[in-house]
Amino acid sequence: MLTGKKALVTGGGRGIGRAIALTLAEYGADVAVNYSGSREKAEQTAGEIRAMGRQAVAIQADVSRQEDCVRMFQEVSTAFGGIDILVNNAGITRDNLAVRMSGEEFDQVIDTNLKGAFFCMKLAGKLMMKKRSGRIISISSISGVKGNAGQINYCAAKAGIIGMTKCLARELAARNITVNAVAPGYIDTDMTAVLPDKVRESVLAQVPLGRMGQPEDIAETVAFLASDRTGYITGQTILVDGGMGM
Ligand code: NAD
Repeated sequence: MLTGKKALVTGGGRGIGRAIALTLAEYGADVAVNYSGSREKAEQTAGEIRAMGRQAVAIQADVSRQEDCVRMFQEVSTAFGGIDILVNNAGITRDNLAVRMSGEEFDQVIDTNLKGAFFCMKLAGKLMMKKRSGRIISISSISGVKGNAGQINYCAAKAGIIGMTKCLARELAARNITVNAVAPGYIDTDMTAVLPDKVRESVLAQVPLGRMGQPEDIAETVAFLASDRTGYITGQTILVDGGMGM
């Protein structure tokens, strides 16, 4: 389905990003695995992809820094000769009630989750416009659709992803580039492992399918949107949430 495609997955060393990187490779793509701090995990993901017979590189870049993103795209171009699929997955949380949240906590989440995605969209968009094809897929969140107490920074960033997706889908449509978002619900990763039991139980009670999602649930949806077969879908946000957001 993705044979010969060149993909970049930000924050691909663990959690949802790792599952996306591995799933894209399973479907035939070569994958650049971005990481900010944990080289070992990204190298491990890249090694597993190479073991499948695909090309893979691990590339360090803090997506909140534009100069890092510029270097990362240069490295992807050198390694793969171009890019067909960008997955904006890197993200952090700094939860606090709005009245207690510091400007720094707000900025950190916006800089990584929203601005980081913007820098990568811009750089990927330039390369894809020349090729007149491409797929840009960003990981939003159900928090950006419904709102979530204690996450004003994260909700703003993830709703922003949905807005940027619609904007870019319109800007790049004439060049045969589709731009979509996936909004996960409650997924079993390091990000949610830190939640207290009480919070986990109350969130699970809101999931009609009655279970947490797995990173692979998100990865399959990203692979679907990355395929040439879904080229008539653009500007959309697909909720992958066990029915939580309906
Ligand atoms: P995670 O914490 O396991 O993974 C986040 C990844 O992003 C890590 O690899 C981390 O190193 C990377 N990262 C963080 N800051 C970065 C930066 N500045 N530059 C480059 N990489 C950076 O969490 P996850 O659950 O796998 O989250 C993946 C994405 O899915 C995030 O965007 C998150 O907001 C989103 N999401 C997760 C859930 C969930 O329930 N787990 C729900 C909705 C959305």
